[in-house]
Amino acid sequence: MSAQRQNGLVLIADDDPIMRLLMVETIAQLGLETLAAENGRLAVDLYQSHQPDLVLLDVEMPEMDGFEACRQIRRLETRELRSVPIIMVTGADDIDSVTLAYDAGATDFVSKPINWPVLGHRVRYVLKASDAFVGLRLADAHNRAVLAAIPDTFFRLSRDGICLNYEAGPNNHAIFSSDQCVGKHVSEVLPPEIAARLMEQVAAVLQTQQVRAVDYVLPRAGGFHHFEARLALTGANEVLGLVRDISERKQAEEQIRRLAYCDSLTGIPNRQAFLEMLERELLHAKLGAKKFAILFLDLDAFKKVNDTLGHSIGDLLLQLVSERLCETLRPRDVVSRLDSQTNLARLGGDEFTILIPDLVHVEDALHVAERIKETMSRPFQIESHEIFVTSSIGISLYPEDGQDCDSLLKYADIAMYHAKSRGKNNAQLYSASLTKQIMSHAKLEVGLRKALKNEELYLLYQPQVDVPSAAMIGVEALLRWKHPERGIILPNEFIPLAEETGLIVPIGEWVLRTACRQAKAWQRSGQAALRVAVNLSAKQFKSENLMQIVLSTLADSGLEPHLLELELTEGTLMDDANATIVTLEQLRAVGVYLSIDDFGTGYSSMNYLKRFDVRALKIDKSFINGIPQDTQNAAITQAIIAMAHGMKMAVVAEGVETASQLALLGQYGCDTVQGYYLGKPVSHASISSMLQNRLRLVRRLARQLVRT
Ligand code: C2E
Ligand code: MG
Ligand code: MG
Repeated sequence: MSAQRQNGLVLIADDDPIMRLLMVETIAQLGLETLAAENGRLAVDLYQSHQPDLVLLDVEMPEMDGFEACRQIRRLETRELRSVPIIMVTGADDIDSVTLAYDAGATDFVSKPINWPVLGHRVRYVLKASDAFVGLRLADAHNRAVLAAIPDTFFRLSRDGICLNYEAGPNNHAIFSSDQCVGKHVSEVLPPEIAARLMEQVAAVLQTQQVRAVDYVLPRAGGFHHFEARLALTGANEVLGLVRDISERKQAEEQIRRLAYCDSLTGIPNRQAFLEMLERELLHAKLGAKKFAILFLDLDAFKKVNDTLGHSIGDLLLQLVSERLCETLRPRDVVSRLDSQTNLARLGGDEFTILIPDLVHVEDALHVAERIKETMSRPFQIESHEIFVTSSIGISLYPEDGQDCDSLLKYADIAMYHAKSRGKNNAQLYSASLTKQIMSHAKLEVGLRKALKNEELYLLYQPQVDVPSAAMIGVEALLRWKHPERGIILPNEFIPLAEETGLIVPIGEWVLRTACRQAKAWQRSGQAALRVAVNLSAKQFKSENLMQIVLSTLADSGLEPHLLELELTEGTLMDDANATIVTLEQLRAVGVYLSIDDFGTGYSSMNYLKRFDVRALKIDKSFINGIPQDTQNAAITQAIIAMAHGMKMAVVAEGVETASQLALLGQYGCDTVQGYYLGKPVSHASISSMLQNRLRLVRRLARQLVRT
């Protein structure tokens, strides 16, 4: 019904005024509006001017009969894209008229004499049908407009996969013509794999009534194009498909992917790409009970290249390194399933990672590391610079070292640091014990930093006894750490850490001051003038303010310099012999007593020993340990004593644990002895009481020495 009118408008044309009136009345009864005309020509005019919703035309009328009026109205309609229902009023049993009426375009007919109540129902039914028809036509026009507006190709498929309709999109992206498709099964048109996937989705659409999509690639115009077919249900047995060329979108996606997953400097995969690859590999390895390895590579001294030659050279170096790594990893054994391009990645800076999938033997991972080291050993030529680079490599293994990607990567990283600390240019496997070692190392370091402040450090003193007189002439100060959780920790465990972290310098100074103060205290209490021996680490010996510290310690404590003995190891002395001589001369000038600790365990050059001009050698306890049974050690000990005496040096034997050891050393002419047999390291108070009981000690030793 026309939108402007509340009720429908019916045009009535009849030359008989009575009939006209009756019709108007009947129609008005239905609540519809009416217009009346007395001949066909007038009816056509009124149709044009009023656009009625229904027309009732008598067949026989003057000037223009009903057939002609019907024809003219239909002609006008094709121009206006309308279709009004027209009911013709014919004579009774006038079959010819009925045929003529339909030919002229009538929608329905009623015959005279008119059954008025039936006419009312007819009119109502025809109007309703007309409304539905108009709605349908509008929807159809709408659909056509939509399909015309989108660039897609569309097709209709039956439940069995027969193409019912195919219309190429306006952009001519379609690969097929309508003739190639209509009436055919999809498998006759598309490659089997694509047809199968398409039919799978057709079935899914029919079942779920939801839109589905299928992606596929087809050759087109010399290249390959990506298509997406979206499928929607149109009827119980029919699916509509819209096909779009998505090649450009795919290209853009690929571009974005490349940007997101590629390291922009070297063009190899970046951290993100590596992590995702690792996830996939982990899944693969878990399912297939396979092994894999992660190599974590870091260039040694890359920072130096950057700092000295500039960042642009540094960048070029990274590019060349990544190229070389690619070359090394490309062939043979490394890459089985994965593409070599993807199993190497740059994590950032000078860090690279390599995934070795399907590992059979651990050695294979080590071989790869070895090959990498080999390729890196050739110098890199950048502009006029010849750059030598080494790398440290850490290796973690799945499943031995960890069960998830994060841990495995972290462990490879830890192993790499371990490799670096082992002197760089080498590869290290991660092992669980390595982390434990590092964890406890780190914890110990934190504790050691607090130890001095929290007064957890203390000294023990071990007696040194003069052999001829059997008198205690000195003590060695030995450091202890009373750890709040672990209890007492011996120096062999924490001194190396203190050296590594530099903490040895403040700790060593504390030892020196405490020992000197203690020696002075013994002296003041009138007990004896004991010489106190303090161990000096290499770091302390090389520190610039060593002299200052020694001088101020002596001044502060008031201890005479000759009562302070500094113990140095062979390693400390030999490290930089020329510098050593200068420092030693300065120390000797102050008047302190110098000795070489752990003698025999390092590599000393006798020439230097002479030049160092130290006062005493302390023979390491490893030599004393086996004597007198170990004749070889006995001979060495004897020779060292003779040689030292020849060089005017005194000899201290360390680690004397038995009477027979003491006796033999006495025979060899050893000057001083130190060891558990003569006294373990003890507190300063114990030394004080030992000094008070000196007489007894001396007597016991004298008896001992006389017996030998
Ligand atoms: P060292 O200077 O050679 O000290 C002698 C070590 O031998 C001491 O171990 C001592 O307890 C042990 N010892 C003494 N007599 C015997 C014996 O008869 N048998 C056996 N088996 N061992 C004996 P300690 O106290 O554990 O010290 C170990 C090392 O730690 C020292 O070796 C020294 O190199 C270092 N050290 C100790 N205190 C300090 C310090 O204050 N500063 C520095 N830099 N190093 C220290
Ligand atoms: Mg010592
Ligand atoms: Mg020693």
